[in-house]
Amino acid sequence: MPRTSNVNIAVIGAGMAGLKAASTLHRTGINVTVLEKSRGLGGRLASRRTEFGHFNHGAQYVTARHPGFNAFLQEATEFNAAQNWSPNLHRGTSAPTSSSGTGAALSPIARHVGNLAEEAWYQGAPQMNKLIRPLVDSFPIQKQHRIIGIEPATAQSFMLHDDLDGSYGPFDGVIVTAPAPQAAELLRPLAPRFGPIDEVIMAPCWAVMAAFEKPLPTGFDAMLYPSSEISWAARSTQSNDMFHRRTPDPWVLHASPEWSRAHLEDDKERVIEKLLAALRDVSSVKLPELHSVQAHRWRYARTEVPLGKSQLNGMNGRVIAAGDWCLGARVESAWRSGQSAAHTMIETLLG
Ligand SMILES: Cc1cc2nc3c(=O)[nH]c(=O)nc-3n(C[C@H](O)[C@H](O)[C@H](O)COP(=O)(O)OP(=O)(O)OC[C@H]3O[C@@H](n4cnc5c(N)ncnc54)[C@H](O)[C@@H]3O)c2cc1C
Repeated sequence: MPRTSNVNIAVIGAGMAGLKAASTLHRTGINVTVLEKSRGLGGRLASRRTEFGHFNHGAQYVTARHPGFNAFLQEATEFNAAQNWSPNLHRGTSAPTSSSGTGAALSPIARHVGNLAEEAWYQGAPQMNKLIRPLVDSFPIQKQHRIIGIEPATAQSFMLHDDLDGSYGPFDGVIVTAPAPQAAELLRPLAPRFGPIDEVIMAPCWAVMAAFEKPLPTGFDAMLYPSSEISWAARSTQSNDMFHRRTPDPWVLHASPEWSRAHLEDDKERVIEKLLAALRDVSSVKLPELHSVQAHRWRYARTEVPLGKSQLNGMNGRVIAAGDWCLGARVESAWRSGQSAAHTMIETLLG
C-alpha cells in the first residue's frame, strides 16, 4: 500500500466540490494539485468586482441540511468567510413545482424553494466567492488551465492536457468537478461507466447586474420568483449594509430557467432590456436611472435532474466525477459530493 505522501491526485475545478475534495485529500497527507480554467476561485460561487463594490452574480445564499455542511458553515462564519443573511423577502407566485411540469417528482430547485422558510441563510463574506476560503490550503492551485484531455499513462496513472499544449502529471488519480456536460466531454472517451452523466440535466441562467443611481424604491431586498421571467432579484450588498442604502444601488436579477432557455442565444443588450422591463413590471415602480449594467450567461447554472448518487467513478476508482449535479442544485450538494469523491479516492488508493 503506498504512503499518502507518495500519492499524487489532480482535481479539475476550484468550485466548492473541487476545493472540498482537495482539502479533504490534503488533510490526509496526499499531494493534491488543483487545475482551474478561470482566473478566480469559487466557480458558481461567483462575485464580480466593480468600481463601487461586488456583485454576487452566481449563487445568492447557502443553506445547510446536512450536519457536516452545517459544521462547515459554522467554521466559515468563525473564519469570517460567511455571514448570516436575512433579507426582507418577497415571495412571488411563479415558483416551480416540478421538474417535468406534470406535478410529479419535485425538481431540486423546486424542493429548494419549498424548504426556504425553515432554513438559515448564509452568504460568503465579504462576498460570495470568499465562502471557499476555509478550504484553500497550501496545495497548489493552477489557475487559467482549461483541461481538455485525461490520458491514461500507465494502468494506474494519468496525464492531463490543457488547451495551451501544457501537460501535467503523472497523477495516480483524477477528480473532475466541472458541471455535468463539461465533465462528460472529458470522461466519455475514458470509460462507458461515465455514460450516466449524460442523463443529468442542468438549466441555464441569465444574470443581470444593474447598479441604479438611486435606491430602487421597493420595500424588499430580495424577490423570489416574482414573475415567469425572473426567478430571483436581490440587492447585492453585504448584510451589514442592509440598513444603509448605498448608491449606486446594486441589484442582481436571475432569469428563470424557462426564460433563460428560450433566450439562451440572445445578445446581452436584449437580455438586459427584457429583464429590466420585467423588474419594472413586478415592482410597479419607475426604475431609477442606471449607473451601469452588465449581463452574464450561465450555460450550466442549476441542476434540474441530478445523477442521484454522490459521485461516479471509473478506471478502477482512480477517475471520479463529482459536483453539485451528482446530488442536487445547491452549494451543499457540491460540498457533499466533493467530500464523497475524496473519501472514495482515499479508499481506492490507500485501502
Ligand atoms: C445563477 C445561479 C444561482 C444559484 N443560486 C444558488 C443559491 O442561491 N443557493 C445554492 O445553494 N446554490 C445556488 N446555485 C448553485 C451553486 O452555485 C452550485 O450548486 C455550486 O456552486 C456548484 O459547485 P461545484 O463545485 O459543483 O461547481 P462549480 O462551482 O461550477 O465549479 C466547477 C469549476 O470547474 C471549473 N472547470 C470547468 N471545466 C474545467 C476544465 N475543463 N478545466 C479546468 N477547470 C474547469 C469551472 O471554472 C469551475 O470553477 C446557483 C448557481 C447559479 C449559476
